[in-house]
Amino acid sequence: MSNQDLIDYLKECGVCQVCQLRYLKARGSEYKDMKESFQKLNVEISNNEDESLTKKPRLNPCTTCLGLFSEEFQQEIIQKITSCNIDQFECQTIGIALSMPMLLQIRQLSMWFALIRKFGSKIDEDRSPDVPLKEAAKLILNPIICQQLNKTYNSEGILINVFLDHPDELDDVARLLKVNEAVFSMKNARGKKQLITRAYMEKMFIPTKLSAETFEKQFTIPCPIPSSGLTLKEVTLSGPCVFVAGRYRKLSRKLSHSPWVLQGKRVMEDSIQEIIIRTIAPHFGVDEDKIIFSSSGREDVDVRCLGRGRPFVLEIPNSKRITLPNALALQMELEIEKSAQISVNNLQMVTRDDLVHIKTGEEKKKKFYRALCVLERPITVEVLKKLDMPNGFEIEQITPIRVLHRRPLHPRPRMIYSTKAWVDNKNPKILIIDIISQAGTYIKELVHGDFGRTTPSFASIIGQPIDIIALDVVGIDLDWPADIDNRNINNNIKIEVVDSVAVEA
Ligand SMILES: [Zn+2]
Repeated sequence: MSNQDLIDYLKECGVCQVCQLRYLKARGSEYKDMKESFQKLNVEISNNEDESLTKKPRLNPCTTCLGLFSEEFQQEIIQKITSCNIDQFECQTIGIALSMPMLLQIRQLSMWFALIRKFGSKIDEDRSPDVPLKEAAKLILNPIICQQLNKTYNSEGILINVFLDHPDELDDVARLLKVNEAVFSMKNARGKKQLITRAYMEKMFIPTKLSAETFEKQFTIPCPIPSSGLTLKEVTLSGPCVFVAGRYRKLSRKLSHSPWVLQGKRVMEDSIQEIIIRTIAPHFGVDEDKIIFSSSGREDVDVRCLGRGRPFVLEIPNSKRITLPNALALQMELEIEKSAQISVNNLQMVTRDDLVHIKTGEEKKKKFYRALCVLERPITVEVLKKLDMPNGFEIEQITPIRVLHRRPLHPRPRMIYSTKAWVDNKNPKILIIDIISQAGTYIKELVHGDFGRTTPSFASIIGQPIDIIALDVVGIDLDWPADIDNRNINNNIKIEVVDSVAVEA
């Protein structure tokens, strides 16, 4: 079978020149100057009216691509995209996703059977004889669309979803189901009803697994000349997914981390997550409920988080912008500060890869706390000495009574790396204790012992009752995101910042 034989036969079947090149396994630039490509492949293209198969609107579209590669249809796609207001996105790159009707895949298979009948063993039975339509579309359509929109290709950019359809799609899919029923199990490996997906078709609907005779009970070989071509059903745009990181400081003892709802009623009016998201979402042109907030750990409602603050990241899908200038970051930080409940700094864009910082190693991280505690009697030097443990100790904690309703009961060991205590200078019964502990330690229980469920505890160590009045997180063991001072970058705008102070009595 020479290339010429193949092309002559394809032409006879009504296959367009682009698709003819697909069957010659043309790659990349070979689709640009088709005439030259045919010459290189020793194929003569006759000078009759068929020559410009892709140029002239024809009565019948190509049998295998149904007109996908005709210039007319390409222009229709581009026009539809340009009518979609792509300029709403501040982004110079685009990705393109073509959603093709199933009948295109059926037609490729039909042509495959036809070629086997015509050329016998010269045609592979387990590897498709053409460059798949999706791949060819990428090679041919993507550069044209990029050029016309004056954008560069990058799958992380604005995603252009192009949905194609055909009037015969439903009919053909119904017949495809009949073929599937006749040949393959209707259940998949997990016992569920087998859905006919693109991937399933690529795997099962090949000549080594399905006979031409069975296929022919529902379809014709080669595929018939179509009376109508593909239609452009819809084009949708979605903006890139961007990530904004920062650090928050929690200044309130009456604020939950995420919306706190019990039996349909809100327990706390607001939350850290909501304050941050509702401030930032409008700047990215995204609905608040589409944004995902995550942080490196969290603190209890009544615990403040001071020091440099706790790292967090927002995942913002379908974003209208891909950059965050310092001035805008500062504006957001100032807006958040107006809440008087939290403050945010170091706001910046990060990449998806950066998320590993926040999502891994949580258990291994050290936590830095300052606890304000009260004893029944004035504090002695002996008590201070006992609580001064620079080398730390190990404790065993059974799930605290206060969280039993939401966490399973199990004992777990935790490291307390160091503790240091001193007496409040106004009240001899008040102790301030700095604690460095392993992540996941219940600090309140470490102090009072939780009726013997945490051992040892500060209470058992000093041999007398001790209670905790207030707790602050004073440091998070994560040097991320980068220390970007949006305030100083912006020409020394002076802002009063609530400082990392000792706990309030
Ligand atoms: Zn074609």
